[in-house]
Amino acid sequence: MLPEAFLMAKPVLEHIEKHNHRAYFVGGCVRDFLLNRPLGDIDIATSASPEYIQEIFPKVIPVGIEHGTVIVRHGKESYEVTTFRIDGDYSDKRHPDTVQFIDRIDKDLERRDFTINALAMNLSGDMIDLFGGKEDIQNKVIRTVGNGYRRFTEDPLRIIRALRFSSQLGFTIHPKTIDEMSLVRHEIVNLAIERITNEFTKLFAGTYVTQGIDYMKKLEIGRFLPIFSDFPDLIHLIPASMKPLKSFGETITLLHLLKPEVTINQWITNWKCSNKTKLEAIQLLEAYNHFTANGLDKWLVYRLRAEFYPGFLRLVEILDHKSISIEHLITIERILEIKQKSDLAINGHNLIELFPNKKKGPWLNHIIKQIELEIVTGHLKNDNKAIKDWLKWNPPAID
Ligand code: ATP
Ligand code: MG
Repeated sequence: MLPEAFLMAKPVLEHIEKHNHRAYFVGGCVRDFLLNRPLGDIDIATSASPEYIQEIFPKVIPVGIEHGTVIVRHGKESYEVTTFRIDGDYSDKRHPDTVQFIDRIDKDLERRDFTINALAMNLSGDMIDLFGGKEDIQNKVIRTVGNGYRRFTEDPLRIIRALRFSSQLGFTIHPKTIDEMSLVRHEIVNLAIERITNEFTKLFAGTYVTQGIDYMKKLEIGRFLPIFSDFPDLIHLIPASMKPLKSFGETITLLHLLKPEVTINQWITNWKCSNKTKLEAIQLLEAYNHFTANGLDKWLVYRLRAEFYPGFLRLVEILDHKSISIEHLITIERILEIKQKSDLAINGHNLIELFPNKKKGPWLNHIIKQIELEIVTGHLKNDNKAIKDWLKWNPPAID
């Protein structure tokens, strides 16, 4: 019997099989199903070529067609469908140089990193378990498929992935696998940093994050990572009160607060983070610093975007051992005089008109922020005339 969680995806497999090809659920979804965890993405492996999949499904997005992966849209869901393949060398440490499409699921499972990720399940719910993955799931053990030394040398990202899975699942890493990670760990420096950042985001978000960090310490992985290699004590500064952090923006804010010599900008540059991560980290840092100096007040809530409230509260919990409820922030937000800059009873144009002799420059943003502060803290009414009166006594500073 096919488990309920996979029923939505069943028609996709049926459709491929109707066209005389084989298809299986593979990877994380099978593992998570056996663990009774909520399923993330449902990935499908098939004997059909990516071109053929494009032909037989109406809605297909060719995301990684050269590696055999396309996304099939069905209902409102997306499924990654990957042709059975074996990988060539990873000489650029990003993607295999070549991939060879094959007709056999067994060889496809053999290229996968860990036994717990190398299970396949067919339409009837039968499992293919060639490497003892089920047993390892039962025993909560991470172990490579095949010779670990070879597998980690092929793609050293798997070393980071082992840490990431231990953090997500709370599994131990098999002692032999640990030794093999230790032998190859110096190869981490050759990886594309974006791949590492991606795995680290998940590592720091894992339910068992302290376990992942303990492995990092034990294996001295930091020696081969940007910033951590310059500050060997950094990993040891992470407090025992560490909790899962939902985004990399939260993670680098925490790491900056633990080691202020490394700026947010340095984290962003060295770990090639997105602009979104940057914006988040800047917001969180401003909120946290304000909290340390002034406590939780209207100005903090006004400045911090609502989407970052939970992350801010996680940082406060880890660093200050204070547990503040999100409702508390929402209550403060509700009574704010203004919610955003555009609610001000005066705008940039008005200000330029009021001070015609001043050239455009940073003074404008500066004075707007001051007006916002006065209004949010209740020292000034949000009223055009009141603001203009206030400006007479508090004219913009000279740039
Ligand atoms: P998650 O639930 O976090 O997505 P996942 O197991 O699905 O976990 P992915 O990174 O999405 O992890 O990879 C999907 C599958 O592809 C893995 O389960 C594994 O079988 C295989 N895989 C991914 N990356 C590698 C790699 N670097 N080397 C070998 N196999 C890999
Ligand atoms: Mg996945």
